[in-house]
Amino acid sequence: MSLNQPLQELQDAFADTDQKMPALFVGHGSPLNAVEDNEFSRAWAEAGQALPRPKAILCISAHWETAGTQVTGMDKPKTIHDFGGFPPELYALEYAAPGSSDLARLAQATVQQTQVRLDEDWGLDHGTWSVLCRMFPAADIPVVQLSLDRTQQPEFHYALGKELQALRNKGVLILGSGNIVHNLRRAVFQAGTAYDWAIEFDETLKQLMVAGNHDPIVHYQNLGQAARLAIPTNEHYLPLLYILALQDKQEHIRFFADKVTMGSLSMRSLWIE
Ligand code: ZN
Repeated sequence: MSLNQPLQELQDAFADTDQKMPALFVGHGSPLNAVEDNEFSRAWAEAGQALPRPKAILCISAHWETAGTQVTGMDKPKTIHDFGGFPPELYALEYAAPGSSDLARLAQATVQQTQVRLDEDWGLDHGTWSVLCRMFPAADIPVVQLSLDRTQQPEFHYALGKELQALRNKGVLILGSGNIVHNLRRAVFQAGTAYDWAIEFDETLKQLMVAGNHDPIVHYQNLGQAARLAIPTNEHYLPLLYILALQDKQEHIRFFADKVTMGSLSMRSLWIE
Protein backbone atom coordinates (compact mmCIF):
# COMPACT_ATOMS: atom_id res chain seq x y z
CA MET A 1 0.00 0.00 0.00
CA SER A 2 1.64 3.23 -1.06
CA LEU A 3 1.48 6.34 1.03
CA ASN A 4 0.09 8.17 -1.96
CA GLN A 5 -2.74 5.81 -2.57
CA PRO A 6 -5.59 7.98 -3.75
CA LEU A 7 -8.57 8.37 -1.49
CA GLN A 8 -10.81 6.99 -4.23
CA GLU A 9 -9.10 3.60 -4.05
CA LEU A 10 -9.65 3.51 -0.32
CA GLN A 11 -13.27 4.37 -0.77
CA ASP A 12 -13.58 1.57 -3.30
CA ALA A 13 -11.96 -0.85 -0.87
CA PHE A 14 -14.52 0.24 1.72
CA ALA A 15 -17.62 0.78 -0.38
CA ASP A 16 -20.90 1.69 1.28
CA THR A 17 -23.01 -1.32 2.26
CA ASP A 18 -26.76 -1.78 2.67
CA GLN A 19 -26.51 -2.42 6.36
CA LYS A 20 -25.25 0.07 8.89
CA MET A 21 -22.99 -1.69 11.35
CA PRO A 22 -24.01 -1.49 15.04
CA ALA A 23 -21.59 0.37 17.32
CA LEU A 24 -20.51 -1.23 20.59
CA PHE A 25 -18.95 -0.18 23.86
CA VAL A 26 -17.66 -3.02 26.01
CA GLY A 27 -16.69 -2.81 29.67
CA HIS A 28 -13.55 -4.98 29.59
CA GLY A 29 -12.61 -5.17 33.29
CA SER A 30 -9.93 -7.68 34.25
CA PRO A 31 -7.66 -9.14 31.55
CA LEU A 32 -8.68 -12.54 32.96
CA ASN A 33 -11.98 -12.23 31.10
CA ALA A 34 -9.95 -13.21 28.04
CA VAL A 35 -9.37 -16.70 29.45
CA GLU A 36 -12.10 -17.23 32.05
CA ASP A 37 -15.48 -18.62 31.21
CA ASN A 38 -17.75 -16.20 33.06
CA GLU A 39 -20.91 -14.16 32.51
CA PHE A 40 -18.95 -11.35 30.85
CA SER A 41 -16.87 -13.43 28.46
CA ARG A 42 -20.00 -15.37 27.51
CA ALA A 43 -21.90 -12.14 26.85
CA TRP A 44 -19.09 -10.95 24.56
CA ALA A 45 -19.14 -14.24 22.67
CA GLU A 46 -22.91 -13.95 22.24
CA ALA A 47 -22.56 -10.40 20.95
CA GLY A 48 -20.01 -11.60 18.40
CA GLN A 49 -22.42 -14.25 17.15
CA ALA A 50 -25.31 -11.79 16.95
CA LEU A 51 -23.39 -9.14 15.00
CA PRO A 52 -23.30 -9.01 11.23
CA ARG A 53 -19.81 -10.03 10.18
CA PRO A 54 -17.73 -6.83 10.02
CA LYS A 55 -15.39 -6.13 7.13
CA ALA A 56 -12.96 -4.68 9.66
CA ILE A 57 -12.93 -3.45 13.27
CA LEU A 58 -11.83 -0.05 14.55
CA CYS A 59 -11.21 -0.23 18.28
CA ILE A 60 -10.79 2.67 20.68
CA SER A 61 -9.16 1.14 23.75
CA ALA A 62 -8.58 2.69 27.17
CA HIS A 63 -5.05 1.31 27.05
CA TRP A 64 -3.61 3.36 24.21
CA GLU A 65 -3.06 7.00 25.17
CA THR A 66 -0.88 9.23 23.04
CA ALA A 67 -0.14 12.90 22.44
CA GLY A 68 -2.19 13.51 19.32
CA THR A 69 -4.51 10.95 17.74
CA GLN A 70 -2.93 7.92 16.11
CA VAL A 71 -4.17 4.91 14.17
CA THR A 72 -2.36 1.59 13.82
CA GLY A 73 -1.22 1.04 10.24
CA MET A 74 0.71 -2.22 10.35
CA ASP A 75 -0.37 -5.38 8.51
CA LYS A 76 0.34 -7.69 11.43
CA PRO A 77 -0.34 -5.96 14.75
CA LYS A 78 1.38 -7.68 17.66
CA THR A 79 -0.50 -8.83 20.74
CA ILE A 80 0.58 -6.53 23.57
CA HIS A 81 0.50 -8.03 27.07
CA ASP A 82 0.21 -4.69 28.86
CA PHE A 83 -0.38 -5.85 32.43
CA GLY A 84 1.52 -7.46 35.30
CA GLY A 85 0.98 -10.30 37.74
CA PHE A 86 -1.37 -12.48 35.75
CA PRO A 87 -1.12 -16.22 35.04
CA PRO A 88 1.17 -17.46 32.23
CA GLU A 89 -1.71 -18.51 29.98
CA LEU A 90 -2.64 -14.86 29.60
CA TYR A 91 0.88 -13.94 28.45
CA ALA A 92 0.84 -16.88 26.05
CA LEU A 93 -2.35 -15.70 24.40
CA GLU A 94 -1.82 -14.31 20.92
CA TYR A 95 -4.65 -12.67 18.99
CA ALA A 96 -3.29 -12.85 15.47
CA ALA A 97 -5.89 -10.78 13.62
CA PRO A 98 -4.45 -8.91 10.63
CA GLY A 99 -4.33 -5.12 10.55
CA SER A 100 -5.72 -3.01 7.74
CA SER A 101 -3.65 -0.18 6.36
CA ASP A 102 -6.65 0.60 4.12
CA LEU A 103 -8.89 1.20 7.12
CA ALA A 104 -6.15 3.14 8.91
CA ARG A 105 -5.80 5.48 5.92
CA LEU A 106 -9.53 5.74 5.51
CA ALA A 107 -9.84 6.76 9.17
CA GLN A 108 -7.09 9.33 8.60
CA ALA A 109 -8.92 10.72 5.59
CA THR A 110 -12.30 10.69 7.36
CA VAL A 111 -11.30 12.67 10.43
CA GLN A 112 -11.14 16.41 9.82
CA GLN A 113 -10.93 18.03 13.25
CA THR A 114 -7.45 16.75 13.98
CA GLN A 115 -4.55 15.18 12.15
CA VAL A 116 -4.49 11.43 12.70
CA ARG A 117 -0.95 10.04 12.61
CA LEU A 118 -0.23 6.60 11.21
CA ASP A 119 1.43 4.39 13.84
CA GLU A 120 3.67 1.43 13.05
CA ASP A 121 4.72 0.52 16.61
CA TRP A 122 1.69 -0.25 18.74
CA GLY A 123 -0.42 -3.29 17.95
CA LEU A 124 -3.38 -4.69 19.86
CA ASP A 125 -3.43 -4.00 23.60
CA HIS A 126 -5.50 -6.03 26.02
CA GLY A 127 -8.37 -3.54 25.93
CA THR A 128 -8.82 -4.73 22.37
CA TRP A 129 -7.76 -8.37 22.28
CA SER A 130 -9.20 -9.50 25.63
CA VAL A 131 -12.63 -8.65 24.23
CA LEU A 132 -12.11 -9.65 20.60
CA CYS A 133 -10.68 -13.07 21.44
CA ARG A 134 -14.10 -13.88 22.89
CA MET A 135 -16.17 -11.90 20.41
CA PHE A 136 -14.40 -13.06 17.26
CA PRO A 137 -12.23 -16.02 18.32
CA ALA A 138 -11.18 -16.91 14.77
CA ALA A 139 -9.13 -13.66 14.64
CA ASP A 140 -9.78 -13.44 10.91
CA ILE A 141 -11.27 -9.93 10.79
CA PRO A 142 -8.76 -7.07 10.36
CA VAL A 143 -8.40 -4.86 13.44
CA VAL A 144 -7.14 -1.29 13.69
CA GLN A 145 -6.78 0.73 16.88
CA LEU A 146 -7.39 4.46 17.25
CA SER A 147 -5.56 6.07 20.17
CA LEU A 148 -6.85 8.44 22.83
CA ASP A 149 -5.22 11.85 22.66
CA ARG A 150 -4.45 12.41 26.33
CA THR A 151 -4.00 16.15 25.83
CA GLN A 152 -7.65 16.67 24.88
CA GLN A 153 -10.86 17.32 26.80
CA PRO A 154 -13.89 14.99 26.74
CA GLU A 155 -15.69 17.25 24.22
CA PHE A 156 -12.91 16.58 21.73
CA HIS A 157 -13.34 12.82 22.02
CA TYR A 158 -17.12 13.03 21.59
CA ALA A 159 -16.71 15.23 18.50
CA LEU A 160 -14.09 12.88 17.06
CA GLY A 161 -16.47 9.95 17.55
CA LYS A 162 -19.09 11.77 15.48
CA GLU A 163 -16.64 12.04 12.63
CA LEU A 164 -16.29 8.26 12.43
CA GLN A 165 -19.98 7.78 11.60
CA ALA A 166 -19.45 7.17 7.88
CA LEU A 167 -17.33 4.10 8.59
CA ARG A 168 -20.37 2.29 9.98
CA ASN A 169 -21.89 2.35 6.49
CA LYS A 170 -18.79 0.66 5.13
CA GLY A 171 -18.97 -2.54 7.17
CA VAL A 172 -16.67 -1.27 9.93
CA LEU A 173 -17.49 -2.26 13.49
CA ILE A 174 -16.51 0.60 15.80
CA LEU A 175 -15.78 -0.78 19.24
CA GLY A 176 -15.05 1.24 22.37
CA SER A 177 -13.33 -0.70 25.15
CA GLY A 178 -13.06 0.71 28.67
CA ASN A 179 -15.23 0.83 31.78
CA ILE A 180 -17.91 3.30 32.84
CA VAL A 181 -16.82 2.87 36.46
CA HIS A 182 -13.11 2.10 36.85
CA ASN A 183 -11.34 2.71 40.15
CA LEU A 184 -8.60 0.14 40.70
CA ARG A 185 -7.44 1.73 43.97
CA ARG A 186 -10.80 0.81 45.47
CA ALA A 187 -11.14 -2.53 43.71
CA VAL A 188 -11.73 -5.66 45.77
CA PHE A 189 -10.64 -8.87 44.16
CA GLN A 190 -13.92 -10.58 44.57
CA ALA A 191 -16.48 -10.91 41.82
CA GLY A 192 -20.01 -9.77 42.45
CA THR A 193 -19.30 -7.05 45.02
CA ALA A 194 -20.17 -3.42 44.33
CA TYR A 195 -19.81 -0.14 46.20
CA ASP A 196 -22.95 1.95 46.52
CA TRP A 197 -21.33 4.86 44.67
CA ALA A 198 -20.32 2.54 41.81
CA ILE A 199 -23.89 1.29 41.44
CA GLU A 200 -25.16 4.86 41.72
CA PHE A 201 -22.91 6.23 38.99
CA ASP A 202 -23.53 3.26 36.70
CA GLU A 203 -27.28 3.75 37.13
CA THR A 204 -27.01 7.51 36.53
CA LEU A 205 -25.19 6.81 33.28
CA LYS A 206 -27.73 4.20 32.27
CA GLN A 207 -30.62 6.65 32.75
CA LEU A 208 -28.84 9.37 30.79
CA MET A 209 -28.04 6.95 27.97
CA VAL A 210 -31.61 5.63 27.83
CA ALA A 211 -32.82 9.25 27.59
CA GLY A 212 -30.26 9.99 24.87
CA ASN A 213 -29.02 12.83 27.05
CA HIS A 214 -25.33 12.86 26.20
CA ASP A 215 -24.37 16.34 27.33
CA PRO A 216 -24.11 15.51 31.07
CA ILE A 217 -22.22 12.32 30.14
CA VAL A 218 -19.61 14.33 28.25
CA HIS A 219 -19.44 16.81 31.14
CA TYR A 220 -19.26 14.04 33.74
CA GLN A 221 -17.18 16.20 36.08
CA ASN A 222 -20.46 17.89 37.04
CA LEU A 223 -22.06 14.63 38.14
CA GLY A 224 -20.89 14.86 41.75
CA GLN A 225 -19.01 12.70 44.21
CA ALA A 226 -20.00 9.37 42.64
CA ALA A 227 -18.49 10.54 39.35
CA ARG A 228 -15.24 11.51 41.07
CA LEU A 229 -14.97 8.05 42.59
CA ALA A 230 -16.05 6.27 39.40
CA ILE A 231 -13.65 8.17 37.13
CA PRO A 232 -10.44 8.97 39.06
CA THR A 233 -8.73 9.08 35.65
CA ASN A 234 -10.78 9.16 32.47
CA GLU A 235 -8.97 6.84 30.04
CA HIS A 236 -11.46 4.00 30.64
CA TYR A 237 -14.42 6.37 30.31
CA LEU A 238 -13.43 8.20 27.13
CA PRO A 239 -14.02 5.26 24.72
CA LEU A 240 -17.68 5.42 25.77
CA LEU A 241 -17.91 8.97 24.40
CA TYR A 242 -16.77 7.83 20.95
CA ILE A 243 -19.52 5.22 20.81
CA LEU A 244 -22.33 7.41 22.18
CA ALA A 245 -21.38 10.05 19.62
CA LEU A 246 -22.24 7.54 16.91
CA GLN A 247 -25.86 7.16 18.01
CA ASP A 248 -28.25 8.57 15.44
CA LYS A 249 -31.53 10.03 16.69
CA GLN A 250 -33.56 7.05 15.44
CA GLU A 251 -31.18 4.47 16.87
CA HIS A 252 -31.74 2.50 20.05
CA ILE A 253 -29.36 1.51 22.77
CA ARG A 254 -29.43 -1.78 24.60
CA PHE A 255 -27.22 -3.03 27.38
CA PHE A 256 -25.49 -6.30 28.05
CA ALA A 257 -23.07 -7.59 30.72
CA ASP A 258 -24.48 -4.71 32.80
CA LYS A 259 -23.14 -5.41 36.23
CA VAL A 260 -20.76 -3.82 38.71
CA THR A 261 -18.11 -6.24 39.93
CA MET A 262 -14.93 -6.19 42.06
CA GLY A 263 -16.39 -3.27 43.99
CA SER A 264 -15.53 -0.55 41.53
CA LEU A 265 -15.68 -1.89 37.97
CA SER A 266 -18.81 -1.47 35.86
CA MET A 267 -18.90 -4.05 33.11
CA ARG A 268 -21.92 -2.37 31.49
CA SER A 269 -21.65 -2.79 27.76
CA LEU A 270 -23.87 -1.30 25.11
CA TRP A 271 -25.04 -1.96 21.63
CA ILE A 272 -26.26 0.92 19.45
CA GLU A 273 -28.30 0.16 16.37
ZN1 ZN B 1 -8.53 -1.68 31.26
